[in-house]
Amino acid sequence: MSDLRPPAPPRRHLLSIRGLERDDVERVLETARALAGSLDREVKKLPTLRGRTVVNLFYESSTRTLTSFELAAKRLSADTMSVRSAGSSVDKGESLKDTALTLSAYDPDVIVVRHPSIGAPELVARNTAAHVVNAGDGKHQHPTQALLDLHTMREALGRLEGLHVAIVGDVRHSRVARSLVQALDLVGARALVVGPPTLLPRGIEALGCAVSTDIRAIADADVVYVLRMQAERMGSGEAYVPSLREYASSYGIGPERVRRGQVVMHPGPMNRGVEIDPRVADSGAALVTDQVRAGLVVRMAVLYDLLTVAAVREPVHAELA
Ligand code: ASP
Repeated sequence: MSDLRPPAPPRRHLLSIRGLERDDVERVLETARALAGSLDREVKKLPTLRGRTVVNLFYESSTRTLTSFELAAKRLSADTMSVRSAGSSVDKGESLKDTALTLSAYDPDVIVVRHPSIGAPELVARNTAAHVVNAGDGKHQHPTQALLDLHTMREALGRLEGLHVAIVGDVRHSRVARSLVQALDLVGARALVVGPPTLLPRGIEALGCAVSTDIRAIADADVVYVLRMQAERMGSGEAYVPSLREYASSYGIGPERVRRGQVVMHPGPMNRGVEIDPRVADSGAALVTDQVRAGLVVRMAVLYDLLTVAAVREPVHAELA
């Protein structure tokens, strides 16, 4: 029997880190790195996706993710438009399926979806011929965030393999934590999640991480990844911590908890004074703006990858040469 396997079929969508293999991640990160070079030029636009259409469908608030997808599409010369639930027919009760069918009538190449419900991007994917990118569904997944975080770590620390990352805070409500744990596992890095017992979902180890309730456990990590307290996903009347002040003193990342050589990341938006002390957020150890910048190049790379998979290995480098 021959060892030669046929090449993997192009991936149609990016819905979850679970759907990726290490090669996929490496390829997207390589493309992102090549694209980063293009952003240093005076003329930042590349013709790569000219004539393509990217629609952003956002049912939840967003600053970084939405602006970076819009700019990513524009930098690659695609046409792009954004539909937010407020002010669209979604307000009038149109179902997600009908909205997907309506937008699909314009033949978009990519639909980027953010939604408070788990599985919404998958539902859109079932009702469109476009490629679908999950830009965050409830507390489930946020795959492009995980990819941009890997890119940020690799650029700052020079490697991913063997890196030790402590993810601290409200893991229970965090799609960022779930995607990142899986992505770190995929590339051979070590993830440790740390938080009060009430904010650590049972069974999270199964995603490929160690777990601790002791904040001192972050001391060994190369990266301290701070999560936002996600009040909007906590039901009213549900108390996960005695008070934000107490949380800040027990688990907040202040200067005394960051050791020399560690870097600190946060997906944003930051609650300064709760999960992160402003003195850390504004310090040289913080990679928060690097993450935002990475968001642009990684989302460019994701759009590029979905739309030109067959030719992905060479042309991007040739084009940028
Ligand atoms: N911006 C990230 C998200 O959409 C993180 C957060 O909101 O805390 O999940």
